[in-house]
Amino acid sequence: MPVRKTRRPQRRPQPPPPPELRELGIRARKSLGQHFLTDREVLERIALAAPLSSTQAVLEIGPGLGFLTEELEARGAHITAVEIDDELCAHLQRRFEGRRVRVVCADALEAPPAELLARGGMAPPFGAAGNLPYYITGLLLRRFLEAETRPDWMLFMVQREVAESIVSSPPRMSLLGVSVRFYAEPELLFPVPPSAFYPPPAVDSAVVRLRTHKNAPVDVTDEKAFFDVVRAGFSAPRKQLHNALSRGIWTEPGAATTILERAGIDPMRRAQTLDLAEWGRLHRAFEAQRAAVAG
Ligand code: SAM
Repeated sequence: MPVRKTRRPQRRPQPPPPPELRELGIRARKSLGQHFLTDREVLERIALAAPLSSTQAVLEIGPGLGFLTEELEARGAHITAVEIDDELCAHLQRRFEGRRVRVVCADALEAPPAELLARGGMAPPFGAAGNLPYYITGLLLRRFLEAETRPDWMLFMVQREVAESIVSSPPRMSLLGVSVRFYAEPELLFPVPPSAFYPPPAVDSAVVRLRTHKNAPVDVTDEKAFFDVVRAGFSAPRKQLHNALSRGIWTEPGAATTILERAGIDPMRRAQTLDLAEWGRLHRAFEAQRAAVAG
């Protein structure tokens, strides 16, 4: 009988806990996505990627123990740092007293970014940075991108898979990719392994930089209607567009094919193959059809 070899589970390299945690007598709180970035080289790389020559005011989300805050401050940034954890917040207020950092104890999702910045006594233009707690990444990106006053740039550490989706492009564009590119130009800067954090997260991470557009890259009459069409297209990503659209959005029976043809898009293509300009044409063709039916 063949002997079955049992594989030992691979041990991930475990970095030592930052001494501040012991000094403060606290533990990393999983429920708040607390994974502290302790690798100095990675911290420096992130701070160097911040376009601080264009905006010195920075809104930092989730400063934790203040490691990234410190690097950004060393490069000349004026920082409003928003931290939800009361104990960490009190620590940060002591640590950065009298420096170019204002610490705001709040949930970063409770107010638009410019309002959070104002609570730190700062005003636009500004950039945003942070090693984001992964459980709020999607919602926070959306709030920041759709805000009336947007940051000029965002430099965020996110889950690697999310980073790849943010920078995706045709023929593998994701819904998140379309949404981000509507507001900003995204770049994936570099991956970061779990061993750079304490405690190490279960997933790989990556740093992305988004530079927000000054002018919309596509001509859109109604943003909500534009995203209704995009979401409908991605509602059945494996289906051809004429099918996905007929299921996902109101049209006259059979009209999706005609609308796609009017927009100059082959109805048999799939959502992930369209670029932003094509989504813009499709949105305008839908609006024209709606107007024709209504009028
Ligand atoms: N920036 C630190 C670093 O790189 O070591 C900590 C990053 S840790 C991944 C995420 C931080 O965000 C934690 O300090 C956590 O308490 C904080 N946080 C979690 N949810 C938050 C929220 N809704 N608003 C503000 N901060 C939040």
